[in-house]
Amino acid sequence: MNIDPICSRCLRDDETIEHILFLCPYAESVWELANIPIQALYLPSISSEFFLEAVFALQNDNEVPLEMKLLPFWTLWHIWKTRNNFIFDEKSEDPNHIVWRARADVREWCRVVLLPHDPPPLISKPTHWNRPPQTMLKCNFDASFDPITYETRGGWILRDYRGISNGWGAANMRYASSPLEAEGKALLNAMQQTWIRGIRHVIFEGDCELLIKMMNKSIYIASIDGVYQDILHWSLKFDNTEFVYTPRNCNRTAHVLAKFGCSTDLFYSSCFHPPV
Ligand SMILES: [Zn+2]
Repeated sequence: MNIDPICSRCLRDDETIEHILFLCPYAESVWELANIPIQALYLPSISSEFFLEAVFALQNDNEVPLEMKLLPFWTLWHIWKTRNNFIFDEKSEDPNHIVWRARADVREWCRVVLLPHDPPPLISKPTHWNRPPQTMLKCNFDASFDPITYETRGGWILRDYRGISNGWGAANMRYASSPLEAEGKALLNAMQQTWIRGIRHVIFEGDCELLIKMMNKSIYIASIDGVYQDILHWSLKFDNTEFVYTPRNCNRTAHVLAKFGCSTDLFYSSCFHPPV
């Protein structure tokens, strides 16, 4: 029986377990999209032992949310399953779908396992956008990211304590290497647009929990260090900034602006007319 040892997906290397799970360009893009805060994942070589050590170290980090701690296990499982589908059923799949499925499985697992002991505080969870205090404006921002082309757009909207908006916009931000970097670029754009309007006391609110945690210095993710340093630099120009996380359903306007605000132009900004 003739068994070809070469990886049939990339045809570059022997199909070792490390290659399938980490080193194949296909696996690399899955890990990139999953954005797990394990620096070892982004090194040019990695062993299974080294990876497992890093994953177990992550379990002891109190700043990392439970879903993120569990995501590496489900990501591994789905990379393996997708590899089998590719070889035995000739089914090819977008790396982004693997990450979505892995995240969905983690959420489902948490829901089933944690619910009987620790029911989520459904009532106290915000269900809509909340107004800022009178002394500050709130700038909601969001990014849209195309996992195929890596094109990125950002949207932002400024509102005061009455909920009245005095500006909103969207911008094409060229390319980002991951959804997380796209969110970082969207925040940077929102900060610049806020600053040029002379506003100096601002709450920047977004629905990317990892980015907000990084801005509040509870985690550090090296893969977005470039945009992170730019954001820090810009935040020093303001008198008072806060970075606040909000669930996606409370960030809908910025989401819509990011998705549709710049479908034809490179840049859009207004305080009168909504985007067409
Ligand atoms: Zn390969």
